[in-house]
Amino acid sequence: MRNILVAGNWKMNKTAGEAKELVEEILAGLELKAGVEMLVCPPFLAIPAVAELLKDKPVSLGSQNMFYEASGAYTGETSPAMTAEFCSHVIVGHSERRAFFGDTNELVNKKTKAAMAQGLIPIVCVGETLEQREAGETEALVAFQINEGLHGIELKTGKELIVAYEPVWAIGTGKAATTEDAVNVIGGVIRPALVEMYGAEIANNIQILYGGSVKPENAFDYFSQEDIDGALIGGAALKAEAFLGIMKAANEVMG
Ligand code: PEP
Repeated sequence: MRNILVAGNWKMNKTAGEAKELVEEILAGLELKAGVEMLVCPPFLAIPAVAELLKDKPVSLGSQNMFYEASGAYTGETSPAMTAEFCSHVIVGHSERRAFFGDTNELVNKKTKAAMAQGLIPIVCVGETLEQREAGETEALVAFQINEGLHGIELKTGKELIVAYEPVWAIGTGKAATTEDAVNVIGGVIRPALVEMYGAEIANNIQILYGGSVKPENAFDYFSQEDIDGALIGGAALKAEAFLGIMKAANEVMG
C-alpha cells in the first residue's frame, strides 16, 4: 500500500514571519487521512520558526539544499548536521540548483550520500529540459541522472530516499506534464532504473513524486496514478488555500 506525500518547496519566498503565517493558515485547515503525508521546505532562515510551529504536528520539515561537507570554510553553505537539527528531509538537485548554482550529478551524488549519512531523507530531483524532450533524450537523460545521482548509494529498505521527477519545462510554467507523460517517465524509466540498481522489493518502496505545475485542479489526476507517490509543489505551496486543495485531493484518493 503506497503513501502519498505532498511536499511544498517554497523556493526563495517567505520571510520567517510570512512563513509562520502560512504554516498557521495551513495547520488551521489541515486534514490528513491515513496514508497521506505532508512536508514543507521553507527557505533556510525560516526553518527554525516553522520547526517551532510543527513541533508535535504530523507534518515533516525539509530544507531546499545542503552542502556535503561536515564543517569548515564554505562561506554561505549549510552542513548536513545543521540541516538535521531541524529537518527530516532535504531536496537535492532541484533543476533550479542545477541551472543556476552548478549542481551537477556528481554534486547531487555527494549531497545525497552526506544527507543519508546524517539520517536525512534526500528528495533527489531529476528531469529533462524542453530541448532534451524535443530531441527525444528524456529517457536516457533521466536514467543517467538516476544512475549518476545514486551511484554507490546502498539502501536497506528503500524508505531512506525519495525521487522527484520534475520535467524542467513544467516547473513554474503552468504547463503541467500530462499524467501519461509523468507515468511514462516514472513507471517506464525511473522505477525500472531503481529496480535494476536495488531489486524490485527495495525499488518499490522508494517514493517517486511528480513535480511541475501541480495545482488543486490537477492533483487528483496525478495522485490517482498508482505509479505516482505524491507531488513536489512550488507555486501552489505558497498559498494556504491552494496547498490545502492539493492535500484534499490526496485525502480523496487515499480515502
Ligand atoms: C518545484 O519548485 O519543484 C515546482 C514543481 O514548482 P511549480 O509547482 O511551481 O511548478
